[in-house]
Amino acid sequence: MNKGSKLYSILRFKCPHCHEGEFFVDSNPYNLAKAGELHGECPVCHRKYSREPGFYYGAMYVAYALGVALFVSVYVAIYVLYPEASTELYIGGVLGSLVVAGPYVYALSKIIWANLFYAYKGVEATAEEKARQAR
Ligand SMILES: [Zn+2]
Repeated sequence: MNKGSKLYSILRFKCPHCHEGEFFVDSNPYNLAKAGELHGECPVCHRKYSREPGFYYGAMYVAYALGVALFVSVYVAIYVLYPEASTELYIGGVLGSLVVAGPYVYALSKIIWANLFYAYKGVEATAEEKARQAR
C-alpha cells in the first residue's frame, strides 16, 4: 500500500491531498474527547479539508454503509460459527460490535468522505493551484 492510493490515506488517517499531514486532531479514534475533530487545513501541504460548511454531513451516508456492512458481517459470523446461537446472542453481538467499532467507523466515514472528493496531488502546489493563486 503506497502513498498515492486512497486506501493509504484512509487507513492511516492522512491528508487526502498529500497523504502526509494528519487528518484528525488526534489520530486515535477512541480518544472520545476529540473524536472526529479535523484540522481546518493540512499541517503539511496547507490545503483545506472542507469545501463548504456542513461538508462532512455527507459522511453520515458512509457511516451508514459501514454500519450495515459491520452488522451483516457480525450476523453472518455468528450464524456460521455458532449455528445454535440464541436470538439474544445475535442482538448482543451486533449491538456490541456497533458500539465498540463506533468511534472507528465514525473516523473512517469522515476520511472516506474526504477521499471521495479530494484526489492525491502531492505536497507541492500543482500547476493549476499556482495559476489560481497568481490570479
Ligand atoms: Zn496535506
